[in-house]
Order: sequence, then C-alpha cells, then structure tokens
Amino acid sequence: MSMEPKLGEPTSVGANFRGVDCDVHPTVPGMQALLPYLDAHWREAVIEREVNLESQSYPPNSPLSARPDWRDKNGRAGLDVKQLCDLTLDRWGSSLAILNCIYGVQLLMSEDMAVVLCRALNDWIAKEWLDRDPRLRASIVVPLQSVERAVEEIERRAGDPRFVQVLVLAMGEVPLGRRQLWPIYAAAERHGLPIGVHAGSAYRHPVTSLGWPSYYIEDYSAQSLGFQSQVASLITEGVFQKHPGLKVVLIESGVTWVPAFLWRLGKFWRGVRSEVPWVNRPPAEIFRDHFRLTAQPIDGPENGNAIERVLEHLGSEDVLLYASDFPHWQFDGDDVISRGIPERLHHRMRIDNPLATYPRLGLTVQAIKAGA
Ligand code: ZN
Repeated sequence: MSMEPKLGEPTSVGANFRGVDCDVHPTVPGMQALLPYLDAHWREAVIEREVNLESQSYPPNSPLSARPDWRDKNGRAGLDVKQLCDLTLDRWGSSLAILNCIYGVQLLMSEDMAVVLCRALNDWIAKEWLDRDPRLRASIVVPLQSVERAVEEIERRAGDPRFVQVLVLAMGEVPLGRRQLWPIYAAAERHGLPIGVHAGSAYRHPVTSLGWPSYYIEDYSAQSLGFQSQVASLITEGVFQKHPGLKVVLIESGVTWVPAFLWRLGKFWRGVRSEVPWVNRPPAEIFRDHFRLTAQPIDGPENGNAIERVLEHLGSEDVLLYASDFPHWQFDGDDVISRGIPERLHHRMRIDNPLATYPRLGLTVQAIKAGA
C-alpha cells in the first residue's frame, strides 16, 4: 500500500514535531537491487556487461564511508531501513529524514544508461525505502549527462510529495551556474524542490585544480574548493535573478570556508561588477537568501567560540540545517550537533530552517498530525 501523503497546503508544526535530518544515505546493495526497475533490454545489458557503480567518492571500505559499529558482518552500512530509522530518527530525535542516495549513476559516460539507471534508482528509493517508513523523504537523483532527460525525471517524480529535493554532485562536467542547465532550475522552482549539491565528483576533471591528487584525504578535502566554485558560478551567472524562488542546499561541504570565500567574492565583485551587471547586490546577500548548508561535518573546533564567530561573519542564523550524514563517519558518540554550535541554534537548525528550505515538508507535518 502506498504511504504517499496527499498534495495540499503546508500546515503549522505540531508540538510533537522534532525536526528533520537533512542528509542521510541509503546504500544500494549492488546492481542486482536495481534490476527489477529496468526493462528487459537494460537488465540484460547491465548483467552481461557486469556494470558496477560503487561510488568512487565514497569507497565502501574507507573509514570515512561508515562508522565501524554501524557496519554489518560484511562491512556494509546503510542497507537496512530499520537501522537507519532507529538511529537517525529514534536515537537522534528527528521526525523526518531526507535520503540522499550517492550511487555512481552520475559518473556514467553513456547518457542512455545514466537516464535509465537514475530512473531505476529513484523507483528503488520509493519502493524499498519511502514505502517502508512514512518518516522518510528523498531527493530525486537526476542524470546531468542530459539536461532534457534530467527535467523529464524531475517531472516524472515530482507528483510524489515524498521527493523534496533534486540531487546533484559538487563536481560535475560544467559549473552549475551555466545557462545550459537552467531548464533544471526552472523545473525545480516550479515544483518547490531545492537543488541539493552533495560532496562528490563525476570525475570528469581532477578534483583539485592542480591535477589528480594521490590520496583520498586530498580528494575529500578538495570538495570544499568545488563547492566554492559552484557558489561563484550560480551567483555570477545570474541563476537567482532568473529563478528568485530557487534554494540551493550545500550538503557535506563544511561550513567554515564560507565567510572568507564570500568576502573574497564580494570584494572582487565590487571591482569588476560591470562584467556581471545582473548581479545587482553583494554576493553575500544573495548567498544568505538562496543557499543553505548542512552542518555535518562541521569543519571547526568543538570548543571556544570559533563557530559562533563564523555564524556572525555569515550574518545569518537561517542558513544552517541539521544533518547526521549517517552512515558516514564524521563524529563519535551521539553528539551529532557539534558542541561548537551554540544551543540556541539547535531548534532553528532542526525545525525552523529545514521547514523554510523544503516547502514540501509542510505536507509531511500534516501527515504526522493526522497519525500517518
Ligand atoms: Zn552526506
């Protein structure tokens, strides 16, 4: 039986609403899990060619990819609906979790295969995860290999209000602001779907601007440089002048790089703004209105007031969203909100900010209150 809530107007939050975990990762156990969602031609193609799309951005055996105590006897984590809900919702106290599935579909060179596997992946998420627990929501994974087909996939899935975001990787083929991608933003804006940009690469280019690094630690650390370039691209190309209702959520980007980068971008904008006349206000203002950041991992110290100062420099308490990033190993124990983040912000990060960012979550609150 489908557990889809009905489309309708958002309602006010009930007293029992405990907030949203904005970044949780279900793991695709392997290509065989997607076979039932492919037609006969593609089923045969992936079996015969032994297609395997383990994400290279999160190699399963890397310590960063899953905390040891969350791994099963085969060393895998994030495979089980009950384990994911027990931890992210029950133990860490959220009412909802947004599933961001990181699987190698964005890495494919074949546009045709990317399109059918994105469809299969989204259908698998709906059937194997969303249908099994009414507290789960998800992002629509889109094939950026084809803008036209990415828009089709958004349209195909947007009728299901459990899909609350469009998911892309931080490092793709072209910068995200480029005009050729704008039909995707038009579709997202039309359906009330923020664009979630998650750490990860399609590996069309080296992950550093210097060339390929030797180690995974360099790859992972370089992600924030990719995010910086995406912020600059989305702002300077004028995406938000064209789509004033669009929000972009930077997921797993870290946080402390933002103020310094915005200061730099704003400084140079003042000097060369004639080049981009449609950027008619400081980039930091545009950032505060349109960008949000998940706060796991938080790349700052847990003690002292360093994070408080970063927030002061950001000039907004609306931008941070709570996330556990389960099962990625970013924290020990159960302190999924860093001790460096002041307690007065916790309610905003868990409830107010996610609800303001994801318009479709209003429906969910309605469903919860109705006892769904
Ligand atoms: Zn994540």
